[in-house]
Amino acid sequence: MIKHLDSEVSSRIAAGEVIERPSSVAKELIENSIDASAQNITLYIEQGGKSSFVIEDDGCGIPFEELPLALERYATSKISTLDDLERISTLGYRGEALSSVAAVSRMEIRSRERTSETGGIIKCEGGAVILHTESPTHPGTRIQVDDLFYNLPARRKFLKTASAELRRILQVVNDYALVNPELTFRVFSDGKRILELLPPGSTDKALERRWGDETPIYSSATSFNSNNVKIWWNPIPDSRRTVITIFVNARRIQDPTIRSAVCGGESAAYGEWLVILEMPPEDLDVNIHPAKEEVRFRRSGDIYKLILQTTRKIFSRKYAFTSEGTPQMEEKAPFPFSETRRTGWFDRTDPMFSQTPWKPVSEVTQTPERVSSPETAVFIPAGRPDPVTVDDRKNYIGQTAKGFLIFDLPNGIAIVDPHAAHERILYEEIAESFKEGIATQNLTIPFEVPASLLPEINIFSKELNDLAFIFEEDRLAGVPMLRGRSKLSPLDMLRSALRGIEVEKDPEKRDREVWWRMARLACRDAVKLGRRFEREEAETLMDKLQACSSPFTCPHGRPTIFLIENRKLEDWFER
Ligand code: ADP
Ligand code: MG
Repeated sequence: MIKHLDSEVSSRIAAGEVIERPSSVAKELIENSIDASAQNITLYIEQGGKSSFVIEDDGCGIPFEELPLALERYATSKISTLDDLERISTLGYRGEALSSVAAVSRMEIRSRERTSETGGIIKCEGGAVILHTESPTHPGTRIQVDDLFYNLPARRKFLKTASAELRRILQVVNDYALVNPELTFRVFSDGKRILELLPPGSTDKALERRWGDETPIYSSATSFNSNNVKIWWNPIPDSRRTVITIFVNARRIQDPTIRSAVCGGESAAYGEWLVILEMPPEDLDVNIHPAKEEVRFRRSGDIYKLILQTTRKIFSRKYAFTSEGTPQMEEKAPFPFSETRRTGWFDRTDPMFSQTPWKPVSEVTQTPERVSSPETAVFIPAGRPDPVTVDDRKNYIGQTAKGFLIFDLPNGIAIVDPHAAHERILYEEIAESFKEGIATQNLTIPFEVPASLLPEINIFSKELNDLAFIFEEDRLAGVPMLRGRSKLSPLDMLRSALRGIEVEKDPEKRDREVWWRMARLACRDAVKLGRRFEREEAETLMDKLQACSSPFTCPHGRPTIFLIENRKLEDWFER
């Protein structure tokens, strides 16, 4: 039997489309404050917004008599005709946000118009108004949302931990702060101020604050037919993801067209991106998603090309001066070595090393034929019958024009890729630091932390402390001491650690995730293929490579060394 759903059910279904979690409340209510021309927006959050979420602004306010209307579905002050719908210039227009939030929480709005003597309060529970009265209040609007989804237990169950929800809210605040650089945003969580973003004046400045001014930020802008796009990129070497924040006409959206244009077939598009697109409102349909998170472009082909062109400009700029192929001769300091390590400690069952095509000979049933001394490390390629000995009696022959190092060994000739070998060495050195238990290395000059990282630092202060990071107020005073002379910047280390903590919740596995990231990052500092080596450096490199527990591949799985056995040579020359 078909029947109409009663209004309570239908309003909750509708609300569910707009409000998924506390961060969707944050998004909708921040957009309302921006539409109300607020200068200051402050959030007070309890329990990641699950128990209470308050937003206060100094915007235009809502007239007392209109408060009940504001809570009604499809009631808006922002558009009135179909024509307006074709040219939307405000963030809101559907009149659905307040009614949706109201339907699934206990909500209170206090508001006063700037020009009005007194203000008003309206309270409702599960969408039903329980109080509406005049009351003295500050100019502007304060909206309190308690017990989100108290009447939708299924939805409530899907909420994450308070800190995970808080981080999503902070993401929304940080994103809106980027495109509203003239506004002030503050966030308090459980009584503590955790974020204050004063007006940086421009998106570039806001991004410097967010990404830190240590990392290179690449940007480029293109205009075409009154479509303007500006794209910023912060390439993060240890990142396995590409995070793209997209704003179209000041609205934060998701868009597959823009996404694919940014990634544009470049596998190197890792890191964080900001895309800001401005276009005539009539070329854009924002009315396709209740949470207004998707849009449709009238000329999506043009938009794709515009974005692609702009990202290409950015890529060409980045790769113009870090081209792997160009030999980098004098530029690097002497090869950064620490003392050699002899014993392999590494867990050989570690899946991370399963890509290695080599196996220690002890795991192979066949007895090695040519072992020159008992302590010699003997390796045999998996699946190949002939054992290969790499021992101490190596003779460095020289370097090829390409930069490969050649060694004469008792049982053959070894050709080494110094870049891959150095990556392997850095990787194992950093792993070793973590394995030994991490000490702190004090920074001579404490390091100013970008404001946007402060909330996360607050949330994860214990975890960061365990990882040997030390903070003095908002400055970084100590970082983990890593073996070898890794050139990781304090900020890179901090970001890596935060990302590791974020990904790996299990404290037992967390160290490993963090070192993995730092080690990957350190690979960036590995010597380039083509750099000239002195004999001593080349020999030390080979020593250290042999001391590694997985010497035959770099951490990315590429080979470090190529061995041509004497026997093969003899066969070849028919000896
Ligand atoms: P929409 O934003 O789509 O118009 P909402 O449900 O979000 O719909 O808000 C309904 C109306 O309430 C808005 O049109 C606006 O008039 C008013 N309003 C909401 N939040 C604020 C605020 N922070 N300051 C002033 N007016 C507001
Ligand atoms: Mg709105």
